[in-house]
Parts: sequence; C-alpha cells; structure tokens
Amino acid sequence: MIPLVDLKSEYEKLRSNIQKEINKVIEDSSFILGSNGKEIESKISRYTNTKYGIGVGSGTDALLIALESLKIGKNDEVITTPFTFFATAEVITRVGATPVFVDIDPKTYNINPELIEKAITKKTKAIIVVHLFGQPADMDPIMKIAEKHNLKVIEDACQSIGAVYKGRKTGSIGDAGCYSFFPSKNLGAYGDGGIIVTDNEEICQNAKLLRNHGSTKKYEHKMIGINSRLDELQAAILKVKFNMLEEWNIKRREIAKKYTEELNGIVNTPFVEKESLHVFHQYCIQTKCRDQLSSFLKKKNIATAVYYPIPLHLQPVYKYLQYKQNQFPFAEKVSKNILALPIFPMMTEEQQKYIVSSIKEFLGDNYEGD
Ligand SMILES: *Cc1c(COP(=O)(O)O)cnc(C)c1O
Repeated sequence: MIPLVDLKSEYEKLRSNIQKEINKVIEDSSFILGSNGKEIESKISRYTNTKYGIGVGSGTDALLIALESLKIGKNDEVITTPFTFFATAEVITRVGATPVFVDIDPKTYNINPELIEKAITKKTKAIIVVHLFGQPADMDPIMKIAEKHNLKVIEDACQSIGAVYKGRKTGSIGDAGCYSFFPSKNLGAYGDGGIIVTDNEEICQNAKLLRNHGSTKKYEHKMIGINSRLDELQAAILKVKFNMLEEWNIKRREIAKKYTEELNGIVNTPFVEKESLHVFHQYCIQTKCRDQLSSFLKKKNIATAVYYPIPLHLQPVYKYLQYKQNQFPFAEKVSKNILALPIFPMMTEEQQKYIVSSIKEFLGDNYEGD
C-alpha cells in the first residue's frame, strides 16, 4: 500500500537522534515548560522572523488562544473560509463568537479577498486566514482591508509552515500566526502540539497566561485559562525534526512538480502563485470522476483522501447560521471534485511513477474534461 503520508520512513532517517533526545528528557524528568519548549519556541520564532513563539497543546489550541489573547468572544464576528479543516471555525464558536464565511478563490482554494468587505458588519472583529494545503493566501489585500476596518488578522498556518508570501513566512504577516505539530503536518511531533508566533508583546503575554491556567507565577491566577502546553517530549522531538523542515519542504515541492508535469491536462492540477512558495502539505487534484478514481486507486493499493468533503457552512452543527446550498459555489464545487494524492518527503520515484501510471490508466478511458 502506498500511504498518504509515511511517518515511519521519516523516523528511520532520524532514529538515533530522536531516541537520544527522548532519553534526555526522561533522564532529566522535567516534562512541562522546560528548556526544550523554550528552544523550539525560539527556533520557530527566529525561522518565521517574529519576536515571540508560544508553544501550546495543539494547532487548534493555538487558534483558540490567539483569539482569546485578542479578546475576541461573545457578540463578535470573525470572517473565515468555509473550505478548511473544521478547527478553524470551531474555535470561533468556542470563544462565543460567530463565524462568518466567504467563498474561496477556485484557483488557490484560499479565501477570496474580494469578497471579504461585503461580509464586514459592526460586529466584525477579526479575519482568520487559512493557507490551505501549504499555499499562501493573498495577504496584501487582506491586510489592507483589516487595516481599513480595524480588524485583527490571525493566520491559520497549520498546513503551511515554511511557506513564503512575497518574502515573508506565512504566520508572520498578521497579528498572530498559528501552527500545528500534528504528526502528519510538514513539521510533525509524535503526538499533539502547536505554537503561536507574534510580534505583539501583549498577545504573547496573554497567550503565555492562557495556556497555563492564567498563571505565570505559581498559584497566582490573572485570567481564566486552560491547560495547553507544548510538552517537553514533543518539543525535544520537534527540535530534531525542525532541522529537516527546509529539506523536506523542498522534497515536497519536487514531488509536486513531477506530479503536475505528468498529470497536467488529464486532471486539474494545483495552481501555484508565482510570487509565493507553496510547501505542499497536500497535493490535490480535481476531477469530475473523483470518487471512481479514488476507488480505482484503492484497488491499486494507493491511498487517497478528500480534504474536505463538506464545506463548513453546510456542516450539521452550523445549521443555526442558516447558510444555504449554493451560497458559496466555489467551495461547494471544489469539495465535490478534489482528491489528495500521496505526498511525503521520502516518497520514492518508483512509488510516484506507479501512482501516475495508475491515474493515467483510469482516466485514459474516463477523461471528460474538468
Ligand atoms: C491541522 C489543522 C488544524 C488543527 O491542528 P491540530 O494540531 O490538529 O489541533 C487547524 N487548521 C488547519 C487548517 C489544520 O490543517
């Protein structure tokens, strides 16, 4: 079986270093908010050219804590994309605010900046921008709109660590950037983890309080927070894996380039913005016979996945928001046609050739245009 991601093959490359780091943490027996966490925080903030990094328990918590650090909550509205992982909108609802969706640009799958202004009301406080699949969203017009209307911008960079928009790393452009260290992300831990990066001292201080029961001094609580820290074992593993991030992102781009060379004209291949650096957390194609292709590939022992089959405005839990079918035609169309192919840094040429020839074998008979 060719899997979607192959974490074992990454581990094999790093085995001895990772085991050494894990052992060190256990020997030192300092497991929470220790030196490894601090090191990975400063590595990531330096890498993204931001002042502060605040390690937290997951990418979802990074988004949640970023919203709370900006004091966004009850009666507020937050604009975001309906075509993303559920957590992006979930955290908006969790803090007591209302997600307001606007449609995507069908080329990049990211929020369409031209549709944002129409969605702004007196209650709008922020925009959560997602850099989906590792491709930077168009930040310049978004930042301009935010400035004009006095809105905060949070970047959901969970899929885009290392991606660059006009010379700047995604996550470093808005007020706060959120990354996930979920195992399959481009920089993945061996469990859950996440980080917030920011240049804003107040956001940093609030986030440090919020992740630790509102406390930085033992048993003195200044805020109602939660328990959401990046633990030392994960931080130690991330220190080792961080050294591979650039090289492995380059590998992902090479694999993506080869896919596109082979599949262009047969399926709809990913559009890549010229001024951006895409890090291909996912390589997604579009085809009208998506479901048939997916089952054919499964029979050929090739794993595929659909990100995401139901746009968020049509999720059962958001029925109360009263969005309608066809309200966001592009998000809805893409969710019907999109299919993620296997992509991981250690993918072999042979594996990729087999995937490409299997797709060609199927679509040779079934191609009906996009
Ligand atoms: C993975 C992901 C998250 C959530 O990260 P977790 O670490 O799994 O909590 C949020 N948004 C997007 C776009 C993601 O891909």
